[in-house]
Amino acid sequence: MRFEDLDVSFLKIQNLAVKFHSGYRSFFRRLSFYAVRNISININRKETFCLIGESGSGKTTLVWAILGLHLFQEGRIVFDGQTIKQSNDPVHQKLKRSAQIVFQDPAASLDPFFTLRQSIEEPLRARGVGKKDRAAIAESLAAKTGLSYELLQRRPSEVSGGQNQRACIARVLSIKPDILFLDEPLTALDAIVQKQVAKLLCEMKRDYDLTYFLITHDLSLVKEIGTTVAVMYSGRIVEKAPKEIFFSNPCHPYSQALLSSVLKPGIWKGKRIVLKGEVPSPLNPPSGCLFHPRCFRKLPVCEKIAPESKTVATGHEVFCHLF
Ligand code: SF4
Repeated sequence: MRFEDLDVSFLKIQNLAVKFHSGYRSFFRRLSFYAVRNISININRKETFCLIGESGSGKTTLVWAILGLHLFQEGRIVFDGQTIKQSNDPVHQKLKRSAQIVFQDPAASLDPFFTLRQSIEEPLRARGVGKKDRAAIAESLAAKTGLSYELLQRRPSEVSGGQNQRACIARVLSIKPDILFLDEPLTALDAIVQKQVAKLLCEMKRDYDLTYFLITHDLSLVKEIGTTVAVMYSGRIVEKAPKEIFFSNPCHPYSQALLSSVLKPGIWKGKRIVLKGEVPSPLNPPSGCLFHPRCFRKLPVCEKIAPESKTVATGHEVFCHLF
């Protein structure tokens, strides 16, 4: 699906910030830091929104705040036209009921004592669906996700990682979500199974009219199934763009470094960019642009002033003084 063909905005995040506490500065003052800050993104119905960035950049924290698993202190979330001003208000409950999450490690997401059938049926049982209907739904979803009747009787330790991930996908689909959050869904799988599960995700999205919010390090997967890309660094979005624009004209030096690190052909045409240093600690962030200690195109202003959003093309925003 192309960016221009997307439906109206379905999930809007506006200036969202999540603060964590970390001990005490003095007897009366707690030490706190921003884990994510100033996040504004727009997710359209039926799109695959991709969030990329190094480990520790705040991607999972952001998703947990959207799903009410972390409290957010600033900003708001607009879901299906209704505003969530604070964590866990009634609209937030509605968002949580419409959303499901697929985690990185499928075996850890399933109860080791349940058969795959029991795991798929469990959310239906919690919603009061009768035994006969549960069995019919589980078998139909298993068939759709490529699990045989025989595999349904096995436990997670008795099947492969790919089969467990298929069971996780069948399980989350059983309650008909509108939006699926996919947190590195392919990372724990081997290369051949990754391709099969990626194909399955595309089919399920089409068949169930789903919206995807994908967290990944896999830029080939983003290129294959993404619609919009946002790049996160040290708790901030530094660039966002429709997928085609992002891959043809990545503007932020950090985005360029990420793309240049992919060894597969067709992602990056220039020389490899090797970044020095680490993502800064949120407890002691640098002044100005948070990326300046590692940036290979740094200007004098970058150490003093944080860059604001610049629109460089339709739907393409970048936070950098070069623009
Ligand atoms: Fe580099 Fe400056 Fe742009 Fe930050 S604002 S990415 S330091 S050029």
